[in-house]
Amino acid sequence: MVDSSPGASPEAPRRSARLVLIGPPGAGKGTLAENLCSFSFDHISSGDIFRGHVRNQTPLGQRLGKSLANGQLVSDELTLETMKKWFWSRKPSQGFLLDGFPRTLSQAQAFDEWLESRSIKLDAVIHLHLQEEAVVKRIAYRRVCPKDGRVYHLLYNPPAREGICDDCGTELIQRPDDREPVIRERLRIYRQKTEPVLTYYREQGLLLTIHSEGHAADLAKTVEQKLQPFFAIR
Ligand SMILES: [Zn+2]
Repeated sequence: MVDSSPGASPEAPRRSARLVLIGPPGAGKGTLAENLCSFSFDHISSGDIFRGHVRNQTPLGQRLGKSLANGQLVSDELTLETMKKWFWSRKPSQGFLLDGFPRTLSQAQAFDEWLESRSIKLDAVIHLHLQEEAVVKRIAYRRVCPKDGRVYHLLYNPPAREGICDDCGTELIQRPDDREPVIRERLRIYRQKTEPVLTYYREQGLLLTIHSEGHAADLAKTVEQKLQPFFAIR
């Protein structure tokens, strides 16, 4: 496969990577996935897969839709059923960066069994760490334009006129999910479910913990450097 993207050098092909990305809401997982340029993978968000099933009204989508509509976490059973379908629809050689899965210890254990049954291994698990107060600050000050979806931040990227979209003059809103009590509850659940997953991968020598404060471009560079040893030992 030829990579013709600007800056890609032909003598250094991007290597296919199998990665899991774990981090609290607001830690910049999506941005990091976009900026990790030395590896080749599909960025897979379990949330996107779930929503795809709902949109296409598949049998799984009908069950997923109920959980998602109630704002609940999708159960382990339903998550595993959905993600297993995704997993077996791919070639073993395809790289991935998984975001949102595995989310619990039993999901991580089941995922390992699938990997083993296809004789493939995870390369690394990237854990983006962000202090709770930093998460709250990133999310609770977020405002969006309900008309065109433009996102503002009251401290870092405020609109020119308070509370008004620069592009279309519509009054900005705060998404219900971005309200502070909601964020704190999401973080509590995140910690509770994720800690055992982090321990599980740490014990396997796969965990790379990165502090996610600071600039997005620097973060990707740091992660790329720190990932190198995980590939060298394989
Ligand atoms: Zn607008």
